[in-house]
Amino acid sequence: MEVDQAPYNNTHRAFLQAFMARSTMTLEDAKRVLAAIFTARDEDRPTLAADITEADVTSYISSINVELSPLDFEIRSARTQTADRTWIWAIVNTTSDPLTQVATTRSADEIAFVKRVLDAMFETHNTPRAEIMAITVTQALQLHKAPRSNNHETQQDDTPAPARSTLSMNDAQKCIENLIEEGWFEKSRKGYLSLSPRALMELRGWLVDMYNESPDEDDTEAEATARIRVKSCEACREIVTVGQRCSNRACRCRLHDACVRQFFRGQGGADKKCPVCKQEWTEQTFVGERAARPASRPSGASAASRRSMMGGDSDEDSD
Ligand SMILES: [Zn+2]
Ligand SMILES: [Zn+2]
Repeated sequence: MEVDQAPYNNTHRAFLQAFMARSTMTLEDAKRVLAAIFTARDEDRPTLAADITEADVTSYISSINVELSPLDFEIRSARTQTADRTWIWAIVNTTSDPLTQVATTRSADEIAFVKRVLDAMFETHNTPRAEIMAITVTQALQLHKAPRSNNHETQQDDTPAPARSTLSMNDAQKCIENLIEEGWFEKSRKGYLSLSPRALMELRGWLVDMYNESPDEDDTEAEATARIRVKSCEACREIVTVGQRCSNRACRCRLHDACVRQFFRGQGGADKKCPVCKQEWTEQTFVGERAARPASRPSGASAASRRSMMGGDSDEDSD
């Protein structure tokens, strides 16, 4: 292809428009879209997706990023957390409050609802006992009502309970459907909602600021680990909302499934040890919806961890 030196033109604009019409693009998507654009430009010489190289795609994206930059947008790439760890690209806003971005076309009440859903994912359903970081659609819908007294985070005594931030069940349902459609939430086969790769790309910094606390001097290792609710993979340093955790509950080590394979292959050993605490890496303790399975739950949860589940009526806690 002769695209690398091409100045910004209508083919870049068409590519950007195709980008904005979707939430994310994989390399294969981008190749198909570019091929269609080139074919439309010159119908006598049809271009096949196979004719487009990865270098063509990245060249287009860097040209577009030059144009997007003054508008505080950028096309970024990240890998999915699934086993294949596919690279995807997404347009992200580089400045304003990311939660407002997620909810850019939504009302204040809907934004408040989205915040309650995120709190449920990253606090209520993300405890030392079970780092699920996802909630079922049913659990999310139950959050349509604003809580009477919201003592989450700092207590703001004079703030009246925002009764108006309650959504009807119907509106909550629609809001969730829109978030799935726009590629912010993903719904698993078992009905769990979690943040999509695109949402993680855009919300990463915000999630860390919002849900991680600074350690206290007197913290035990377990307490310090519990304060870091949004953890990064020990191998690739990206956020882990789906993956594996060390079988030592106090240990902060997390790894993506694909990173586990790579990591221990690199070590070449048959018995896998946690890179942080050296306890055996069992591949039986999970982050993500697999953590909600009764099979992965250690017996005899302490009173403290039970208390930390308070407020949630998650199904992993119902028996
Ligand atoms: Zn990783
Ligand atoms: Zn460990």
